[in-house]
Amino acid sequence: MSIRSFYKNLTPDQRKVALVIVLNIFIVIVESTVGVISGSLALLSDAWHNLSDVLALIVTAIALGLGARAASSSMTYGYVRSEMMATFINASFLSLLMIWVSVEAIDRLLHPIPVDGWLTMITAGVALIVNTVSALILGGHAHVHSHDDEEEHHHDDLNVRAAFWHMASDAILSLAVVLGGGAMILWGIPWIDSVLSLIFAAVILVASAKLITQSFSSLMDRANPAMVTKLTNILNNHPMVIQTHDIHLIKPSSKERYFSAHIVLDETLTLGEIETIIEHLRHDLSHAGATHVLLQPETSKYAHSNEQCDGHIHPHTH
Ligand SMILES: [Zn+2]
Ligand SMILES: [Zn+2]
Ligand SMILES: [Zn+2]
Ligand SMILES: [Zn+2]
Repeated sequence: MSIRSFYKNLTPDQRKVALVIVLNIFIVIVESTVGVISGSLALLSDAWHNLSDVLALIVTAIALGLGARAASSSMTYGYVRSEMMATFINASFLSLLMIWVSVEAIDRLLHPIPVDGWLTMITAGVALIVNTVSALILGGHAHVHSHDDEEEHHHDDLNVRAAFWHMASDAILSLAVVLGGGAMILWGIPWIDSVLSLIFAAVILVASAKLITQSFSSLMDRANPAMVTKLTNILNNHPMVIQTHDIHLIKPSSKERYFSAHIVLDETLTLGEIETIIEHLRHDLSHAGATHVLLQPETSKYAHSNEQCDGHIHPHTH
């Protein structure tokens, strides 16, 4: 793996992410402070959403760092799962906050409290500008909310698209608070803030549910069955491969896909010939999306059913 050399070129990205983190921390502080002063639940919701973005961006910055990915004698896989672990915790945390927002919003609909429209509108306007600037700085890169699924070799395109979608929705959320503040000033409608908060909570909960599902699947080593079939077919379609079993595919991060399998070969092959076969398979598997491949060559002595997953280790005594 050439992750080390790959990430050496990403220092400018880390700087961009660091700048956006500082800008977002600024929004969080301003929005949460003014949210409490003005009584606007919509501002508080936006502040928490941005806090969640800050945590996600910090993870991105760490993931971009050289040391974060390096394996050690105790962390033999490096910190490859940190992205999914952080996403799971972050999205779960944000979901709990949004459930609280929903309960609070319904309570306020029943028992309205005054909201300062001007303070709300001006603060959300600042957040709108800062969010837009953040989007321009990132330029559609390195936003950790985005996770490509099982498509191969399109990581960058998908990340760009997902990042733009997220930034656009962030800007729309801030814009909605600006308009809500304006409506409260113009028509003095107190429940607009509560209704906006409910809509925010719903939008963010739907987005979080997707992230929670994705990260939980990854942490539980769930694989896409179609991808398992695709990779296994590459092995089975090789003329020298007699049988395959003990197939494993995991997706420990949005960019990594680890594949391992036992392949049964003719026992008269030399080690050099076996190595050539494995090199060929590894090359084809990597083009199909596998980023880490482990193939165990065996003779037909081990040609048993596909369900086997004991690594041929059986209980015994000496
Ligand atoms: Zn966001
Ligand atoms: Zn085997
Ligand atoms: Zn190639
Ligand atoms: Zn196994």
